[in-house]
Amino acid sequence: MQGIVFDGQTLALIDDLEVRDPGPGEVEIEIRASGVCHSDLSVVNGTIPYPTPVVLGHEGAGVVRRCGEGVATLAPGDPVALSTLGQCGACPACDSGRPTMCRETFGKRPTPFRARGMPHHNFANLSTFAERIVVKANQAIRIPPEVPFASAALIGCGVLTGTGAVFHRAKVGPGDSVVVIGAGGIGLNVVQAARLAGAHPILVLDTNREKQALARQLGATGFVDPREHEDVVAAVKARLGGWGARHVFECVGAKTLMEQAIQMVDWGGNAVMLGVPSSETRVEFLPAATFLDVTIMGCRYGSSQPQADVARICELYLAGRLELDALVSARYPLADWPRLVEDMKAGRIARGVLEMPGGR
Ligand SMILES: [Zn+2]
Ligand SMILES: [Zn+2]
Repeated sequence: MQGIVFDGQTLALIDDLEVRDPGPGEVEIEIRASGVCHSDLSVVNGTIPYPTPVVLGHEGAGVVRRCGEGVATLAPGDPVALSTLGQCGACPACDSGRPTMCRETFGKRPTPFRARGMPHHNFANLSTFAERIVVKANQAIRIPPEVPFASAALIGCGVLTGTGAVFHRAKVGPGDSVVVIGAGGIGLNVVQAARLAGAHPILVLDTNREKQALARQLGATGFVDPREHEDVVAAVKARLGGWGARHVFECVGAKTLMEQAIQMVDWGGNAVMLGVPSSETRVEFLPAATFLDVTIMGCRYGSSQPQADVARICELYLAGRLELDALVSARYPLADWPRLVEDMKAGRIARGVLEMPGGR
């Protein structure tokens, strides 16, 4: 089968990839569509160190092909969206509804793939840039057949992370002011979740003005191009009555933006760090800036509860309350992946989706 592999030097589509059979509690998935996220490229440019060779891709949707022993929750043919967690389901974190804090989800580096006689790692417990993968059954969450695969593919990374940061982590409420730094795959989902939560105003910052229309369609009430302001923190505060925002979401992972995010928070508010900086990035802030009950919060994978959240996201989507289709900027056949990466690097697309043979 085909899959996109990073061998430590180059990224290439190979066609002699093999995946092992599903073991007890596991399922084999035929991937139909996969989103391409900046985190995949971060492995290639070294921002996210990862052992190689590795089959990339960590947001996808597909169909269950085979179930391993003991899997009672899924059946062959079920359409599913994929989660990267693979929580154990039995530890104190899982038992208290915080699967993103399950220790079993950290640091595993399995090698379910083989090619050219060599074991190949999966990425983020998934590897959605392959035609078939093997995952734990709780990573495959059944979705209604009406949800197109290309749209469902985005749920497992940007949608879960962005909406979960709003609902689970920051707990945005009606009338709360929200600033979103970066209108990419995560930021746009923060915007639409903030709208669902009743937040107002919702101010989006991005240097790419082409993102304004989609941001507004998803719920942004204002758009700021930081390049137009000498002091962007002052400009944002001025738009919010002088005090800053109740919640500021940094969705880029850049030092300066993370520092500005903290400065934009109102008394008693939250700076939520969603962007992934390089592991060496350090930020500076004045501790005095936090004295008035300002919280700087990390957020792993939207603090999500994948079974509940994916079901809710699909229901909201089918009811027309949450957008998925509009998040897909363009679709590409798997073989056209270099064009997708090029469009992504040039900022021409918010989210490109790779479609596998059999996708729709
Ligand atoms: Zn991602
Ligand atoms: Zn656990």
